Amino acid sequence: MKEGKLIVISGPSGAGKGTVIKKYLEKHPEDELSVSMTSRPMRDNDIANVTYYFKTKEEFEKAILNGELLEYAMYNGNYYGTPKNEVEKRIKKGINVILEIEVVGAMNVKKMMGDKCTLIFIMPPSMEELKERLMNRGTDSMESIKGRLDIAKKEIKESKKYDFKVVNDDLDKAVSELEDIIKNNII
Ligand code: ADP
Ligand code: 5GP
Repeated sequence: MKEGKLIVISGPSGAGKGTVIKKYLEKHPEDELSVSMTSRPMRDNDIANVTYYFKTKEEFEKAILNGELLEYAMYNGNYYGTPKNEVEKRIKKGINVILEIEVVGAMNVKKMMGDKCTLIFIMPPSMEELKERLMNRGTDSMESIKGRLDIAKKEIKESKKYDFKVVNDDLDKAVSELEDIIKNNII
């Protein structure tokens, strides 16, 4: 059987990764999003075991030691990681799996999987718009937003290492570019 593709999507917090991926998956329910583990506190709109598996720092460190994670990284003071069992079984079954992860984790996945994975970077139209989106989303404190914007500058520099870039200005256009990359035999 043909294996599924591993699609890694990164981009600054607030660029619209979650929004673009949600819309893509509504059109393509045959593809699946991997649920990550994190030690960050839950936000009002988070759903346990759906948006993330929420763990304490100690539980997360135990998962690292037990070899349960495909990759993990520290982001803005919290751990985030991809459980191996979110990925391997599905790929073998022929299902395309999307990882929505930050750049350090993405580079580690690339090192491990090589040509088996495709890296896509979702770019905001500008830093001003990014700040605006984070403020309007209303899910993060000012301190967290400041941290996320600082990290964004470094992340955007890393975007040259990605196979594809998608600017999320017009949402429908960004979704259709993502569809082109994943479905129309570009990869
Ligand atoms: P990320 O997952 O990258 O952190 P989100 O998907 O949460 O980003 O989007 C951040 C905010 O920007 C949300 O409030 C979302 O509704 C909004 N947003 C996403 N895409 C667009 C777009 N193309 N134009 C305007 N606002 C957008
Ligand atoms: P948020 O706190 O906004 O949900 O996520 C913060 C950052 O962590 C985002 O850039 C998101 O892509 C990244 N992230 C989410 N899950 C994972 C993961 O499993 N591994 C890594 N390396 N980063 C992740």
